[in-house]
Amino acid sequence: MTTPTDPLGAGPRRPLRTAELLAVGSELTAGETRDTNGGELARSLAVRGVGIRRIIALPDDLALVTAAVAEALASVDLVVTTGGLGPTPDDLTREAVAAAVGEAPAVDAALEAWLRDLFARRGARLPEFNLKQAWRIPSATAIPNPNGTAPGWWVDRPDGRVAVLLPGPPREMRPMWRDWVVPRLSARGLGDGRLVRTLRTYGIGESSVAEILGEPMLRAANPIVATYARADWLDVRISAVDERDAGDRVTRPAAEVLEVATADVRARLEGFVRAEGETSWADLVAGAAERAGVRIAIIELGTGGALGDLLAEVAAVERDVAYGPRTTPDPSTWPAEAEAEAVARDARVEVGLALAAHDDGTQTVLRAAVAAPRAGWARTLDLRLFPRGPHGRFRAGVAAAAFLVEVLGAEP
Ligand code: AMP
Ligand code: MG
Repeated sequence: MTTPTDPLGAGPRRPLRTAELLAVGSELTAGETRDTNGGELARSLAVRGVGIRRIIALPDDLALVTAAVAEALASVDLVVTTGGLGPTPDDLTREAVAAAVGEAPAVDAALEAWLRDLFARRGARLPEFNLKQAWRIPSATAIPNPNGTAPGWWVDRPDGRVAVLLPGPPREMRPMWRDWVVPRLSARGLGDGRLVRTLRTYGIGESSVAEILGEPMLRAANPIVATYARADWLDVRISAVDERDAGDRVTRPAAEVLEVATADVRARLEGFVRAEGETSWADLVAGAAERAGVRIAIIELGTGGALGDLLAEVAAVERDVAYGPRTTPDPSTWPAEAEAEAVARDARVEVGLALAAHDDGTQTVLRAAVAAPRAGWARTLDLRLFPRGPHGRFRAGVAAAAFLVEVLGAEP
């Protein structure tokens, strides 16, 4: 049996612009496990400009999976399956893909040797069941799995379409996707050359952002500007492709379209854009603390430790969460500045942050103070938030972190 050449060296055949993602496993359709692979793969492909046509979950049913694979291979450029590569008879993604493309699987000598060695090194004999993990069809290239016994398959179709089979466990799937599959897909010509940037805004609502950016911008085809309300940020995502004339010549490269749009959005949302990309509040606090050359002690009441959780990874932050019998104070009469000064002194650091939040039955009321007793300044924030309960507490933590970043950036 001849092994197909590594797809990395094969060069572009058919641009991979559309994809379907199939999650295989009866645990998914029974609602025991959530399909997280679909969302992760979709995100990875979408930022590269691939149009995701469908994300489907399927039970371990040979006929259903075969039909879904055959249908996907007739309609999109790239099909990615996760799951069903285990050693047991209910794992049948290999069989389904083989049937869908009309090929017969057979044990691959190299894969078998790899598997036998894997078990031998653990002092075990290869169970007969596991031998199907050494299967390959002629049009498939094995995808090495450094974290498990299930190699994946990269299947080349004669029309240039590609099917990629990956194991279900995310810790096995992720590195195979990132390190082996994505570089090869990129070499084939993945997506539409789209460039993406995310601007993270805070302190402004989604409808206000939409109003400021305006319908023409939010409905344009290139660049695409869209807003995404998250728990801690309101993201504005800008993506652009090359602008082309009727003769398909590039008139403005994607990078330029993206830069111009980004500058425009930043100017319109001045004062609200706090970060780019995947930046977190912890990143911003860490950066602000470093620039100001301070350590920070925090005390929070009525938040269930939301602020401490948010800043858990920040080395410059000392936490003091009060739980238990101490009742949450009424934020509107709470001496927040004195509390912030006290926590800074007690912890022997330069800056103290005190936060109290309270669900008053209609909204979350909060007071936060940032104080630097040695430098002799303090600032207070009073805020009312619509969300209540756990979401209100989380948002109170975010509000305090945002206030801290703002104050540290402004104070000398
Ligand atoms: P597999 O043996 O490849 O079918 O998958 C084994 C395990 O991987 C399952 O029991 C799940 O815990 C996990 N898994 C499978 N598919 C998914 C998925 N789509 N999203 C998240 N976890 C999954
Ligand atoms: Mg399974």
